[in-house]
Amino acid sequence: MPRIAYVNGRFVPHRDAAVHIEDRGYQFADGVYEVVPVFYSQLIDEDAHLDRLERSLSELRIAMPKSRQVLKMISAEVMRRNQLTYGFLYMQVTRGVAPRDHKFPKAAKPALVMTVRQTKPHTSEQLEKGIKVITTPDIRWQRRDIKSISLLPNCLAKQEAVEAGAAEAWLVEGDGTVSEGSATNAWIVTADGKLVTRKADHLILSGITRLSLIEAAKAAGMEFEERPFTVEEAYAAREAFLTSSTNLVMPIVQIDDTPVGNGHPGMLTMRLRQLYIDYVTADPATRKNQEEAA
Ligand code: PMP
Repeated sequence: MPRIAYVNGRFVPHRDAAVHIEDRGYQFADGVYEVVPVFYSQLIDEDAHLDRLERSLSELRIAMPKSRQVLKMISAEVMRRNQLTYGFLYMQVTRGVAPRDHKFPKAAKPALVMTVRQTKPHTSEQLEKGIKVITTPDIRWQRRDIKSISLLPNCLAKQEAVEAGAAEAWLVEGDGTVSEGSATNAWIVTADGKLVTRKADHLILSGITRLSLIEAAKAAGMEFEERPFTVEEAYAAREAFLTSSTNLVMPIVQIDDTPVGNGHPGMLTMRLRQLYIDYVTADPATRKNQEEAA
């Protein structure tokens, strides 16, 4: 079955999907994006992702390309045409096509692209192994709350991680605190058992997985602290993990050269992963699909 993409009003074969060379996304990274996880053919936390898309766009003074209802119809159609069951939906909005000039064009119409990708759920072997992260200076701009497609520092950090045999890079502020990962939010369980993640201000992306995990943890009566933590604190942590739409809750077993805890995924981390999955799939429609797929 050919992969189908949505590009500015048309459904086209993925291999032919293209935008104009003067799209401001291509010229200036003048745009934003969202990645929405899909389990059992259902978008997870779709409204929260659309809220964040709307916020990112309004911070950059780009208009919503379509109403929320139409965006939902298009995403459902892209998923249907690709028969997506598990994976994610990618949507990108740029300021549109205009002659290259830094200032905002007067007449450009926001450009909208949506694609989906089928992936496989993490296996229990992968989860039991956990992942390694490295730390590297955070060299990004000061508005990381905007989900901008300008991701060059994130790409450089991720490449550095991969070349060091790690799966992710934790980005470190000048004061020695971890802001977040190159494409994930960062969490630790401190040596005295406290669940800690940084507050979602302009220095990090407010992850939707992070938000739902906080809700799930609260619903389970668990306490957590929203504050920055240092690399030293992370080295000494009992557990560490990251969250994102593509990783969900992923245990970290090593930070730079230091094993986390006993070097195996933490018990609290694995409990949180299950709490998160139960929480986001608790919606009746999703649960029904899940039962049918089982
Ligand atoms: N931080 C950054 C820098 C990211 O790119 C991402 C994922 N796009 C996240 C955090 C996690 O966000 P989410 O849980 O919404 O995927």
